[in-house]
Amino acid sequence: MAEPSFLDWPFLEPRHRTLARDLDAWCATHLRDSHDPNLDDACRKLVRELGDGGWLKNAIAGSAYGAASENIDTRALCIIRETLARHSGLADFAFAMQGLGSGAITLFGTDAQKKEYLPRVAAGHAIAAFALSEPEAGSDVAAMRCDAKLTGNSYVLNGEKTWISNGGIADFYVLFARTNEAPGSRGITAFIVDPKTPGFEIAERFKIMAPHPLARLKFTNCQIPVDHRLGEPGQGFKVAMATLDVFRTSVAAAAVGFARRALSEALGRATSRTMFGQKLADFQLTQAKLAEMATGIDAAALLTYRAAWLRDAGRRVTVEAAMAKMTATETAQRVIDAAMQMFGGQGVVTDEPVERLYREIRPLRIYEGATEVQQLIIARGIISSFQEHDRPQERTKRIESDKTATERRS
Ligand SMILES: Cc1cc2nc3c(=O)[nH]c(=O)nc-3n(C[C@H](O)[C@H](O)[C@H](O)COP(=O)(O)OP(=O)(O)OC[C@H]3O[C@@H](n4cnc5c(N)ncnc54)[C@H](O)[C@@H]3O)c2cc1C
Repeated sequence: MAEPSFLDWPFLEPRHRTLARDLDAWCATHLRDSHDPNLDDACRKLVRELGDGGWLKNAIAGSAYGAASENIDTRALCIIRETLARHSGLADFAFAMQGLGSGAITLFGTDAQKKEYLPRVAAGHAIAAFALSEPEAGSDVAAMRCDAKLTGNSYVLNGEKTWISNGGIADFYVLFARTNEAPGSRGITAFIVDPKTPGFEIAERFKIMAPHPLARLKFTNCQIPVDHRLGEPGQGFKVAMATLDVFRTSVAAAAVGFARRALSEALGRATSRTMFGQKLADFQLTQAKLAEMATGIDAAALLTYRAAWLRDAGRRVTVEAAMAKMTATETAQRVIDAAMQMFGGQGVVTDEPVERLYREIRPLRIYEGATEVQQLIIARGIISSFQEHDRPQERTKRIESDKTATERRS
């Protein structure tokens, strides 16, 4: 595969370019381009290999805990996810979940919590999971019902979580439950939950179109020690949203990776398939499609690396991350669909690269906030920014023009 020119963009630093090239070479020798029939084993193996390769050091932060950098390097996360996604959806998933599942510990954990979990995450010796969604609380996170009551030195956890990636194979779950300090989103607290805790049950495993471990979890009077609370009581919603602000941008990067792979497959097909006496790529209809695909990918990548760069510069990126995730996932779906079309009948054969990409991309438009949720986040962000910054100026201008009119009249 040709080296992607985005590496020359000014959002990135030399270390990111080195990371991309080294990981690309590692993927070419370490990742098999097919799905292992035993999914749990395949995931465990990938996590260990990603740990051995040193890539998971980028999923956490803090050199004292085995990380590659002191703060989360969002651009490194994006480079890694984009590269892995170009090679293997499951490898991207294994990497992403180590980051998402431990992200709240990196951002809000105590030193003791970081020491206990982060080095094992970075080495690939502990598998992480992030348990936020519930059967009645997916897009509407604040509707969660899972309940944790403080009694003595532990919280007693009751309820359910669903659609939990790595559910069934994770060594720990960062979980969010209602602790009722205040109504709605201000009454939620984050915890680190050990699946060996009595009362913790894997209630159901799901098979999905882009196979990876996914489960519904059930908790019956699970005793969670107070020192497994993550962050302050009632701050769980903030903990979850801050974690998602980082990892949403990386979902966009994975989508860009899937789309780049689809474009590469499409170019290979269009330049080699002969029909009506010429190559598929010689038709202007094909060229228009290829142009749209390439432009869409660059637009998505620009939004993705802008969000990552802004976050690494210490800025809040709720709106930028939402723009990146919405644009990259929706664009990637269109690009992959167009690539599949160019393959004709061959495109719909199970486990053909474009067929696999077609299945891999679909859940990205739903998890970590569906596209409609991203639209609301963006709209809320720009409306409140308008109300804070733009409207007062307009009001001042109006008052000044009113004053001038009054002065003219008098
Ligand atoms: C493969 C996969 C992996 C996942 N992994 C995890 C995980 O590791 N941890 C975790 O906590 N969760 C995980 N999830 C859950 C995921 O975050 C939720 O599925 C998602 O938030 C949507 O919630 P829901 O499924 O309950 O759908 P609902 O909330 O019922 O939403 C259904 C649809 O309604 C639409 N919609 C939503 N809000 C609005 C609105 N305001 N206006 C109009 N339309 C709207 C959207 O199209 C949405 O897809 C995963 C999901 C999938 C599919």
